[in-house]
Amino acid sequence: MTTETPIVRLTDLRLDRGGRAVLRDINLSVPRGSIVAVLGPSGSGKSTLLSALTGELAPAAGRVEVLGREVPRPSRALLELRKGLGVLLQGNGLLTDLTAAENVALPLRTHTDLPDALIRRLVLMKLNAVGLRAAADAYPRELSGGMARRVALARALALDPPLMIYDEPLTGLDPIASGVVMSLVRRLNDTLGLTSIIVTHHVHETLPVADHAIVIANGGIVFSGTPADLEASSDPLVQQFLRGQPDGPIAFDAAPRTAEAA
Ligand code: ADP
Ligand code: MG
Repeated sequence: MTTETPIVRLTDLRLDRGGRAVLRDINLSVPRGSIVAVLGPSGSGKSTLLSALTGELAPAAGRVEVLGREVPRPSRALLELRKGLGVLLQGNGLLTDLTAAENVALPLRTHTDLPDALIRRLVLMKLNAVGLRAAADAYPRELSGGMARRVALARALALDPPLMIYDEPLTGLDPIASGVVMSLVRRLNDTLGLTSIIVTHHVHETLPVADHAIVIANGGIVFSGTPADLEASSDPLVQQFLRGQPDGPIAFDAAPRTAEAA
C-alpha cells in the first residue's frame, strides 16, 4: 500500500438532506490513479455523496478531504478547489445553441485568459481525446447520445483536472454507447494520470473498468472491495442489489414518503 495522500478521503462522514441523515459513518479513501465505482440503488445517496465532494453540501458530521485538503465552505477557496474537479453530472448539460467546440471552450473562457487561437487548439485536443475532433463544429442536436456524452466529457476535462467525478454517466445510452463511454473513462484515467469516481446504478457496465467498488444502501456503505470480491459476495444486501431484486434487506421505498418531493 502507498502512504501517499489519497485524492479523496472521507472520515466518519454524515450527510443530511431535508433534516434527515441520508448517509452516515462513511469512511472512504480513494488512491491516486484509481477508478472507484460508487454503486447503489436509486435514492440511496450517491448524488448526495458527490455533492459533498464538490462542496455543494456541507457535512453534518465528519470530514471531507479532496485533493489533499478539507473541502471549504462556499468561498473563493472552494471555487479554486473546484477547478481541480472535472464533473460530469447526470445529463450532459451541453448548451444547445453552442457547437461541441464552443461547449468545450466554456470552462477555458471562464477560468483562463488564454487567447482564442490557443483555446481553439486546446479544445481540439480535448475533442481528439474523446474521439470527436471531427465533430467540433456540430451542434448537440446533430450528435448521438453517446457522442454528446463524450463532448460533455471533453468539457469536464477542459481544465486538466486531476480528479474526475461522474454521476450516472450511462443514463439514456444504449449498450454499445455505454461500452464506448466506460472504456473511454478508463483510457482517459490512465493516459492522463487522473483519478475517477463513478457514481452509478449500472453495475455490470461499470465494474469491468473499476479498481475498487463500494455499494451504498440503507444509509451507509454495505460493501467496499474489488469488483471481483463484489461479484463473489454472499452478503444478502449486495446480492439483492446486484440482481436488482425488489424484495430483500434493501427497502424498495428507501426514502420516507415525506421526503419524496425532492
Ligand atoms: P441517488 O443519487 O443514489 O439516487 P440521492 O443522493 O439523489 O440518491 O438522494 C438520496 C436521498 O436524499 C433521497 O431520499 C432523496 O429523496 C433525498 N434528497 C436528495 N436531495 C434532496 C434535497 N435537496 N432535499 C431533500 N432531500 C433530498
Ligand atoms: Mg443520483
